[in-house]
Amino acid sequence: MTFKADLHCHTNHSDGSFTPQELLNLAKKIGLSGLSITDHDTIAAYYDNIFDLAKKLNLQLLTGVEISSEFNGVSIHVLAYNVPLNSKLDDFLQLVREKRYQRNRLIIEKLLSKNMVITEEELINLAKENQQGMTVIGRPHIAKLLLKKGYVRSIQEAFDKYLKKGASCYASGSKFSTIEVIEKVHEVNAKAILAHPHAIKEKKVINDLLELPFDGLEGYYSRLYLHEEKKWIEIAEKKGWIITGGSDFHGDFKPRIPLGCSWVSDEVFNELQCL
Ligand code: AMP
Ligand code: ZN
Ligand code: FE
Ligand code: FE
Repeated sequence: MTFKADLHCHTNHSDGSFTPQELLNLAKKIGLSGLSITDHDTIAAYYDNIFDLAKKLNLQLLTGVEISSEFNGVSIHVLAYNVPLNSKLDDFLQLVREKRYQRNRLIIEKLLSKNMVITEEELINLAKENQQGMTVIGRPHIAKLLLKKGYVRSIQEAFDKYLKKGASCYASGSKFSTIEVIEKVHEVNAKAILAHPHAIKEKKVINDLLELPFDGLEGYYSRLYLHEEKKWIEIAEKKGWIITGGSDFHGDFKPRIPLGCSWVSDEVFNELQCL
């Protein structure tokens, strides 16, 4: 059987709807051989006794996280792989999460100014229905709450009307710079990968990002068109960068995207795993 590893997915420790255990079981069921859980700004899933389950399922697990950053005013996600547990990266991620809470407050204020009343407490309660332990709350949770309270008819409508960049209630918040994030990732000998570069629309920003000391970029992504993937693969190959890939599975938060719809071979998986 072909080795397939999905290197980008979210659990209910951030804005996915599956528990880490459910995600591992699903990965096995659909025939994946490897997986990396990449929650936003937390590696809590890996403290959830999942290595024993992975072993039982004969599934290879690569530690990972998707870290929020900012480059010249543009929001950039940095995927980190082979992240050591109980390292100083945990302390850094805590700081990243604190910035996220502040940003959520800004978005809540903007919604209030448009007479959409949601409170931080309601947001925490909604997240707790879905999450266990530590909470990383983001725009998908805000979207779900707006839906629950009848302000919009779908999560997508919430993003399109209010929450996406440029929409009336968007707030970027303050984030660590992409360069700083790459440095923190390298300090613990993990790999720093530019996530879904096709989603960055500003050409100058892309060109400048490609000059940063990333180890690779995410060339295979979700349901990206083949010609788009080809573009990023060629760029990465020229630079000698690792080309990663994954579905960006979020469960119910993005119901149209199945786990395993993008994946990498054992060659890439092993390259990321070795120090
Ligand atoms: P945040 O980390 O709070 O900025 O939220 C980022 C997450 O929101 C992404 O991982 C996606 O799951 C989701 N998201 C971002 N932009 C959109 C969009 N335009 N439509 C739907 N979901 C989106
Ligand atoms: Zn997400
Ligand atoms: Fe992302
Ligand atoms: Fe993601």
